[in-house]
Amino acid sequence: MNYQKKTVKDIDVTGKKVLLRCDFNVPMAKDGSGVITDDKRIRAALPTIQYLLDQGAAVIACSHMGKPKGAVVPELSLKPVAERLSQLLGKPVIMADDVVGPDAQSKAAALKSGEIMLLENTRFEAGETKNDPELAKKLASMADLYVSDAFGAVHRAHASTAGVAAYLPAVSGFLIQKELEVIGGALSDPKRPLVAILGGSKVSSKIGVINNLLEIADTIIIGGGMAYTFSAAQGGKVGDSLLEADWEDYANDMVKKAAEKGVKLLLPVDTVCADAFAPDAKSQVVKAGEIPDGWQGLDIGPETVKLYCDAVKDAGTVIWNGPMGVFEFPAFAKGTEAVAKALSETDAITIIGGGDSAAAVQQLGYADKMTHISTGGGASLEFMEGKELPGVACLLDK
Ligand code: ADP
Ligand code: MG
Repeated sequence: MNYQKKTVKDIDVTGKKVLLRCDFNVPMAKDGSGVITDDKRIRAALPTIQYLLDQGAAVIACSHMGKPKGAVVPELSLKPVAERLSQLLGKPVIMADDVVGPDAQSKAAALKSGEIMLLENTRFEAGETKNDPELAKKLASMADLYVSDAFGAVHRAHASTAGVAAYLPAVSGFLIQKELEVIGGALSDPKRPLVAILGGSKVSSKIGVINNLLEIADTIIIGGGMAYTFSAAQGGKVGDSLLEADWEDYANDMVKKAAEKGVKLLLPVDTVCADAFAPDAKSQVVKAGEIPDGWQGLDIGPETVKLYCDAVKDAGTVIWNGPMGVFEFPAFAKGTEAVAKALSETDAITIIGGGDSAAAVQQLGYADKMTHISTGGGASLEFMEGKELPGVACLLDK
């Protein structure tokens, strides 16, 4: 995939109507009160929106929220987003009652330079997730240009994330530009040594990433729940730890492949195990592969922490995807925290991909010490797998 894409700065947006795909899929209070519990994604979109407005574009913003599956679900309306966005911008945000219906069409037609409106949840239209060309054409008909800044949705070939680009000149906003620059840069021409830290719960969900990074990285570090499948594959005792027995052969293949390629592959040498999956479980540190029956590994051990923190010290680039343990329980967050701290102290380019990894780094207070925290969980995963992202591929090349 070509990562060199035109941005809003490479085209003339003045006086143009711009269809801007954002990722406003924000978490909402479960009680249906319409309260946004975290507006990070709305804030993240502000630089591109502000730039377009300052340049005299008329901005027709759109986004999906949740999974209404082609029906109008009032609880998934973007109205609360329009209100929040309006507060943040300090100017009115005109809310459309539909996506491409008469209300959206007439409001878009009347929209003036320097004004902004928001379409309803794109997934209220059944054609959105089917990438229906008719819906894409209707979306395109309201604007002169398409700008995508919804990195969180670029791995989906939907009408508003990819299809619409067939009918309008399409460029990226600043959010996608940074994702492409930093992650794309690390994948295509990394400052070496490139160290990849892979953790999280399952091997099966990270196969693509491990495979791709084996081709690129100098060192691969395995932590989190997936480490126990590697341990079991080597004949270790893993007790009640997370184990994907079907993936043991694969784990052995990866170890072999790494050796053949001269990639250093680090596995835990000790583990913090617990007598239950609970925040207040009894715990003990044991050697890797020696977890007693009835116990389960919930974090990497102190020797492993030393080994891993040492490995990132002289890195040129570190890509981190997947926490080292069950960081949601403070007692088992030490490995994840130590790695986050080590990353904050290196001179390396540090990239955090994956929704839970980003949450962990934020929760532990290291977010502003990282070079880049990806704004897309699933999208960053597919990016790191080396897959083509439809919402990026559809943009104009530089
Ligand atoms: P990301 O979203 O960053 O890609 P994943 O979704 O793959 O990460 O994994 C995150 C989850 O993995 C976290 O909820 C964490 O609690 C869990 N996890 C990490 N280590 C373990 C472990 N040893 N046992 C069970 N779950 C674990
Ligand atoms: Mg996750």
